[in-house]
Amino acid sequence: MSVLQTLRAGLADKSITASALLDAALARVTGATPLNALITESFVQARAAATSIDAGAHASGALAGLPMAHKDVFCTNGVRTTSGSKMLGNFVPPYSATIVQRLDNAGAISLGKTNMDEFAMGSSTEHSAFGACLNPWGSATNKRVPGGSSGGSAALVAARALPFTTASDTGGSIRQPASFCGVTGIKPSYGRVSRYGMIAYASSLDQAGVIAESAADCALVLQQMAGFDALDSTSVDVEVPDYLAAINAGPGKLRIGVPRMDQVGGVQAGVMAAINQSLKLLEAQGHTLVDIDLKFSDIAVAAYYVIAPCEASSNLSRFDGVRYGHRAENCKTLVELYERSRSEGFGPEVQRRILIGSYALSAGYFDAYYLRAQKVRRLIANAYAEAFTQVDVIATPTAPTVAFGIGSTLQDPLAQYLADVFTVGVNLAGLPAISVPCGLSDDLPVGLQLITPGFTEAKLLALAHQYQQHSDFHRLVPPGYSAFPTTAKALLS
Ligand code: GLN
Repeated sequence: MSVLQTLRAGLADKSITASALLDAALARVTGATPLNALITESFVQARAAATSIDAGAHASGALAGLPMAHKDVFCTNGVRTTSGSKMLGNFVPPYSATIVQRLDNAGAISLGKTNMDEFAMGSSTEHSAFGACLNPWGSATNKRVPGGSSGGSAALVAARALPFTTASDTGGSIRQPASFCGVTGIKPSYGRVSRYGMIAYASSLDQAGVIAESAADCALVLQQMAGFDALDSTSVDVEVPDYLAAINAGPGKLRIGVPRMDQVGGVQAGVMAAINQSLKLLEAQGHTLVDIDLKFSDIAVAAYYVIAPCEASSNLSRFDGVRYGHRAENCKTLVELYERSRSEGFGPEVQRRILIGSYALSAGYFDAYYLRAQKVRRLIANAYAEAFTQVDVIATPTAPTVAFGIGSTLQDPLAQYLADVFTVGVNLAGLPAISVPCGLSDDLPVGLQLITPGFTEAKLLALAHQYQQHSDFHRLVPPGYSAFPTTAKALLS
């Protein structure tokens, strides 16, 4: 049984209590403080929630009593929500995001907000106004990034401080940190999960999802998050299948497309070796590997890094120091107020994206950049659709490398952008994808990315679950950490 399934069983038969479970999680989260993964604590609210669950609240809630944390991109009623930015450094939302509300209704207990790249822009969680987050797989002499932008969410699950966290993915921000931290992360289809109350980065790409130890645990949590929401105009009104039933039924025999890698440079040999090993394992389960040519994947990064900044520059225009967010002091004119509030409130990477986006959208350059990137986006979506006429699933590395060193890409933003080569196309096409741990290279985790057609998360989860039943990589714990406790005895020790 998975971690969440075991905890649920223990809570149901009352061999463990929500309060004891929360105490253990709080101790582990506090122990993981050096990672700088949690930037706002809501321990008092969490304790109150655990007490009321032990007294019978949310008795039928699917996640009743399970401790977790939200990425700080999701609005949480009464709990500070910053999106990793000084701009929102003291913003306390008067409402919760739909997914926060749904997980609350299911009885999940949030004990805080996780560190992230500012406004979800980045692949390393170094671009946070609250300081860099560390990967628990690194060491004091070999500090590694947890990936990003959901680095805090991935690091806390990897350190086994929490059994699951929420995260968001615009171009890879669930899957890449999951890969770097050796945990499982699913980015659902665009429209599957409500974006209401999720602070927007690039609205046509943003999607909320889950990070947990296993695909089975992702399935349990996604079940509660997914589904139509009238408050999000891009939410799609289709039925949410029973994910647990789907993973128990198994994926059947699938054709797995493996794109030719010769167009993509920079894949580390150790990463490729782990991926090839995992493909063999899948083949041994009766699936067929098919070579495919995923056209235009080499220009996905270029298209993404035009479209995402364009949408970001528009979304972030609301932070002007007038309505809410950081306001510069002692300004003499309105223009000075705008300029200084935005210069002081936004960090360098966010400013860079706003500049790129504003430039690409400006009258003289719109056709050359934004319009052209949108056409490439269509070609990429078509290429995936064409591939899915031949195969059921596409498998790639999640990232070309293992977790890089802290600070190693900060002087070269383009190098960090290129690290997104396997993930951004999926967002441009609105598809679901999952990253599962598939081995170690240089003692650091490698992630396998599986991609399926829109709204087939059930198949995706079933395949990932089958893989995890035949491999133990998702159970590997970073040196110096221990598995999350699931029994009464373990909770006390
Ligand atoms: N690394 C990508 C970027 O910086 C993806 C971020 C994300 O998915 N939020 O845009």
